[in-house]
Amino acid sequence: MNHTEQRGVRKLLAVFAHPDDETFICGGTLAKYAGEGTEITLVSATRGEMGRRMGNPPYLNRETIAAARERELREACRILGVRELKFLDIRDKTVEFIDEELLAGRVETWIREIDPDVILTFHEQWGGHPDHCAIGKATTAACRRAGLEERLFFISFGDMMERPELFGYTRTDVVKIDVSAQLELKLAAFRAHRCQSEIDEWVWLPDREAVARFGKYEYFIKAGQTGQVRPGVQRSF
Ligand SMILES: [Zn+2]
Repeated sequence: MNHTEQRGVRKLLAVFAHPDDETFICGGTLAKYAGEGTEITLVSATRGEMGRRMGNPPYLNRETIAAARERELREACRILGVRELKFLDIRDKTVEFIDEELLAGRVETWIREIDPDVILTFHEQWGGHPDHCAIGKATTAACRRAGLEERLFFISFGDMMERPELFGYTRTDVVKIDVSAQLELKLAAFRAHRCQSEIDEWVWLPDREAVARFGKYEYFIKAGQTGQVRPGVQRSF
């Protein structure tokens, strides 16, 4: 991304909270980098076993959902080209209750081991879900501890960062990735997360119609900049 793009990104580490975060938010970017030869490691803090969507019509229960979501995530990773998948084995919806130091330490260990050129995670304030914010906060702390904050980027939802000034950022704080050539892979990964996506009718429209629902860009915020939400702008997404 930007400065790293010039020397060629070779390793990317994405640290998210649930199976599907990687696909629904930045699947196009992951597919794009993987297609260029970047080795991608995805860390999912949980297996998403507390998700409210249990299939449509429901065919999962609290006992079976974790394994199903792990299976679906593995398939999405295969489609997107994510090489390695790791779990932190935290129970879904409890990431915020895990000792912050401990969590940051675990992520730091992987950061030091992998030495990624780019690290992606959630913004600790704008994650939109307590698990997202908590894993984002811990990963940010881990990057700081490892002295690699300049390699950290926060994912953002939809095209909210098309207008970064609303959030106290400038255009130079935002990396905009053209994923128009990866939208079919993104759609296939959406469909791989079947128990989560099958209730969304648009996902199952003919490919061309479904792909048209995606934005052509995914946006990332460089870490280390202090954003400030303008009054009246909604903070969560
Ligand atoms: Zn999530």
